Amino acid sequence: MKSLSERDEKHLWHPLTQHKLHPKMLGISKAKGAVLYDENGKEYIDGISSWYTAMYGHCNEAIIDRVYQQMQRLDQVVFSGFTHEPAVALSEALIPLLPANQEKLFFSDNGSTSTEIGIKMALQYHHNKGKKRSVLLAFEDGFHGDTFGAMSVSSLSVYNGPFEDYFIEVKRIPVPTDDNIGSLLHDLENNIDLGFIAGFIYEPLVQGAAAMKMHRAEHLEKILKLIKSHGVLAIADEVMTGFGKTGKHFASDYMEVKPDIICMSKALTAGMLPMAVTSCTQEVYDAFYSDDIAKGLFHGHTYTANPLACSAALAGIELLKSEAIQKNISRIIQWHQEFDAEIKDHPKVAATRQIGVIYALDLNIAMERYGNVRDKLFKHFMDSGVFLRPLGNTIYILAPYITTKEQMQKIYSSIKEVLANF
Ligand SMILES: *Cc1c(COP(=O)(O)O)cnc(C)c1O
Repeated sequence: MKSLSERDEKHLWHPLTQHKLHPKMLGISKAKGAVLYDENGKEYIDGISSWYTAMYGHCNEAIIDRVYQQMQRLDQVVFSGFTHEPAVALSEALIPLLPANQEKLFFSDNGSTSTEIGIKMALQYHHNKGKKRSVLLAFEDGFHGDTFGAMSVSSLSVYNGPFEDYFIEVKRIPVPTDDNIGSLLHDLENNIDLGFIAGFIYEPLVQGAAAMKMHRAEHLEKILKLIKSHGVLAIADEVMTGFGKTGKHFASDYMEVKPDIICMSKALTAGMLPMAVTSCTQEVYDAFYSDDIAKGLFHGHTYTANPLACSAALAGIELLKSEAIQKNISRIIQWHQEFDAEIKDHPKVAATRQIGVIYALDLNIAMERYGNVRDKLFKHFMDSGVFLRPLGNTIYILAPYITTKEQMQKIYSSIKEVLANF
């Protein structure tokens, strides 16, 4: 029989892939806990939780059980005009977990749609109030997804050339540092007309696709305070950072100033099913609440608030709040700190950074984002049974909370081999 990898080539077109340069896909046949198994039985520790989704481990029994129970009761139903227990229960579980000013949840299917909806909420919020604000504000090096609004506000969209003529208008500001925060605030106040800005979309504290680039909460907080004082809505894209990864439930929890809108996906459903939520304040919601039908938010996806996905999310939130998972998060934070102390002064390490269970190191080696050396690095990790996806010269770890000490040691060892041999 042909392998999965061979059968794949005939009809499948993969995301973010130039097939002529990278024709071969690795067949994965199962996953359990922190481990992926390929079709030949080789094991890989999932060092990035399958793009930050499977934080409680793959094929987690508690989540399977919850979804299985729900499957037998109600699988799918229209969410316009109808509601159901998993969605209501999820709202009751998620709202208390979110920053205190969040009151309403709008469902969709993936991270890009959650930011797309956040952007539409911000634009229509001002429109409904009779104000013309048609520009978005965003960070340089941000990533918010691959649909049009999301692409427009992302500046890491290095391969978005064919679409750029159709983007919405965006003003960009640099990510704050100790050095630039003064001039950044000055520029925002004096050189950008904030009266035309509908919303500021940002990845709070960690820019995932920018190779886990981090900035300080106190700097971000100053930016938020300033833009909010000019009526600009703050849209926190917590698609990557949400659900415990930064050591708090949400990265926004590190700040007193709260976002008006929060975008969530990825770990929301614990890696079991695709779903997203865009939450907002009562004030945002009230701008849409009217006798005028046209002031409503006329956005909707067929699978909005799918009951199975809501059940997976409910089980995920219970796990996140459990003592066991909170303990796991604390010990991973500690292990990363110990590993960091061990390698940060190595001559091949240019810089390291950590927040919560997210750990990143920059190699002192010149490399392209998806170039040759990067491919060699990737191969080294896979050969040693560790799935990590280096970005340029950055290696980062975002392993599931349930990763054992032994498994984490294996990830660290394979990184130390890179430092010794590359
Ligand atoms: C992954 C990601 C997205 C896009 O989510 P998709 O589900 O891939 O569409 C948006 N924003 C951030 C910060 C992300 O990490």
